Amino acid sequence: MTSSEVVRRALVTGITGQDGAYLAALLLDQGYQVTGVLRPSGVSLDSAWRLKALGIADRLNYVTVDLSNPAEVVRLVRSVSPDEIYHLAALSSVHASFDAPAEAFASAATATTHLLEAIRHCSRHTRFYHASSSEMFGAPPQALQDERTPFHPRSPYAVAKVAAHQMTRLYRIAYGLFCVNGILYNHESPLRGEEFVTRKIVQGLCRWQAGERGAMALGRLDMRRDWGFAGDYARGMYLMMQAASPDDYILATGRTHSVRDFVDLTARALGIPLRWEGEGVEERAIDLSTGSICVTIDPALFRPADVAALCGDNSLARETLGWSPTVDLPALVEMMVREETNRVQAAMATRLRHMAR
Ligand code: NAP
Repeated sequence: MTSSEVVRRALVTGITGQDGAYLAALLLDQGYQVTGVLRPSGVSLDSAWRLKALGIADRLNYVTVDLSNPAEVVRLVRSVSPDEIYHLAALSSVHASFDAPAEAFASAATATTHLLEAIRHCSRHTRFYHASSSEMFGAPPQALQDERTPFHPRSPYAVAKVAAHQMTRLYRIAYGLFCVNGILYNHESPLRGEEFVTRKIVQGLCRWQAGERGAMALGRLDMRRDWGFAGDYARGMYLMMQAASPDDYILATGRTHSVRDFVDLTARALGIPLRWEGEGVEERAIDLSTGSICVTIDPALFRPADVAALCGDNSLARETLGWSPTVDLPALVEMMVREETNRVQAAMATRLRHMAR
């Protein structure tokens, strides 16, 4: 970089999460100075395992800020004066949002509003990305959703995201700010949190294959989702922020699979021969190599209001941003299984070392 080139500054909330980690790595590669927002009650820098896994923890700046406090948010935006804000922080589990609806709403809708207000009053040049979600579509009127499909949210998480999404649009329309919503369909990776069903399946079957025999309980197996790779979606977020003008974009693969398919793909990647038996809450998967039940259904894991299927039309992102997904679901599952197998083996080796002492 020559001395005349100005270093661009990015502020990333939710940097300790899956998407925050991939996005921060991408922004560093692009030459950005990246500041990550940690939350006072969240994980500490010491336990920011995703940033460490990508080898970038030491290359970022950090600030601890309560995003529910508007004065703190204004100070944050003033002091960093970022060219781009990627607002990813939120209670991100749909399931957990039913138990903590007020937290879900505050973390998404209120924090987004504080950030937008801070930009409007103190930093109008700052571009703003909001992490919207396909869950906003809830029970959509069409099988393939696009940016014009109406929202029918089916969880506190989705209601909160709709509020934050509309607020982001409003600041674009009313104040002419560069504000975009990325309507992202489910995206996974080896950095996915353990509370999400995909990681739970991969972790459960990797442990099973390593000899830890305990059946894994799942919720509804027929739910269909459009699953992509988080690294691809971080690239899409970045592209939205480089566009000539702001807009809202769907990032999706355009293909759906059921939770049952996800289990099958994981078992296949691990070489576990599976057979499904029974129906409804009695359905279970048998490991044919041992005859043991390795997957059962637990109705306690059903959501109070379900979203049966979501599938996104990514045409706008393809045509306007040149974005497309590069990893299909079988390859994504294999990637997750490889990393999880390493983790399981490392944990077993540590246990053996302790026992040998
Ligand atoms: P994630 O791995 O769960 O990370 C969530 C981030 O938000 C973490 O940095 C976490 O901080 C922070 N956070 C958690 N609860 C919070 C709360 N109550 N208040 C403020 N911050 C909180 O999620 P992700 O997969 O990276 O997703 C990033 C964003 O994209 C989220 O807003 C999510 O809703 C949205 N999104 C994700 C997907 C997906 O499939 N991954 C799809 C659509 C939209 P700590 O580490 O300190 O807990």
